[in-house]
Amino acid sequence: MRFLPGVLLAACASFACAQTPPPPAPAPALDSPALDSPEVMRAKAGIDYLRSLVARGVAPRAQLERAEAALADAEDDALLRRTIYGSGLTEGQADDMLAAAARRVDRRLKAFEDGQKLVTAGIAAQNSLNPLREDLDSARKESELAELRARYTRELTQMARAEELLELQLAHEPQSAAELADRFEGDGVFNLAELSGVEQAFEKHFGKALPVSAMGETALHRSLGFDHRGRVDVAVHPDQPEGRWLLEYLTGKHIPYFAFRQAVPGKATGAHVHIGPMSARIKLGG
Ligand SMILES: [Zn+2]
Repeated sequence: MRFLPGVLLAACASFACAQTPPPPAPAPALDSPALDSPEVMRAKAGIDYLRSLVARGVAPRAQLERAEAALADAEDDALLRRTIYGSGLTEGQADDMLAAAARRVDRRLKAFEDGQKLVTAGIAAQNSLNPLREDLDSARKESELAELRARYTRELTQMARAEELLELQLAHEPQSAAELADRFEGDGVFNLAELSGVEQAFEKHFGKALPVSAMGETALHRSLGFDHRGRVDVAVHPDQPEGRWLLEYLTGKHIPYFAFRQAVPGKATGAHVHIGPMSARIKLGG
């Protein structure tokens, strides 16, 4: 949020602004995808006001452009906070997150290069570059985090797609569904309360937590039209020791599962163990 005070300052650095406060920010629409933070809303109202001053010729256009760039940066910052550190991303949100992180790196790279020009021209001191370099480094680190998060989202999407494919096969070609996943019906039911027993046994055996990748319903499953409530996905390959142990444990407890080796035949992605009955397709309009 380093740039946000700049947004307000740039928007209000005018004698007219000092005399007449900007109008209050309008309330965001309830159906907007993400509500603005109060800071962003205030900055937007300030920019609207500054825009009217520029239109009347009482404020310079460059001032408006600086304020708009700072606001865009603050919005990207807010988006990254919601996505990098939030839970349950869809693929589209992951793409938006990567784009916002890339724009923040670009802005800081440009600021650093502009600073270097001033130093080269003898207008600014060498140490004036330090904060610009720190900003650039932190934007690059943020971008790496966004990449990791996006990669994780892609893996989760592959797992959900594998389930989507299986659900289609079960409906239309049940005899070939076995090629996609091993199925164990157990006693046909799985209660989420049973999960803690699975987690404890796994941790006791492997000395690490069960890598649950989807607990019940997620935004990703909803976006693919799946009702994943009461189901759990575990990010283990069925043929690796953790996966083999898990399948054996579930079988012993009569807990139903589907063991996926890959999302698409021939592609080594999307492997996981789905605990519980297969997801139902969300009924549209009902
Ligand atoms: Zn699942």
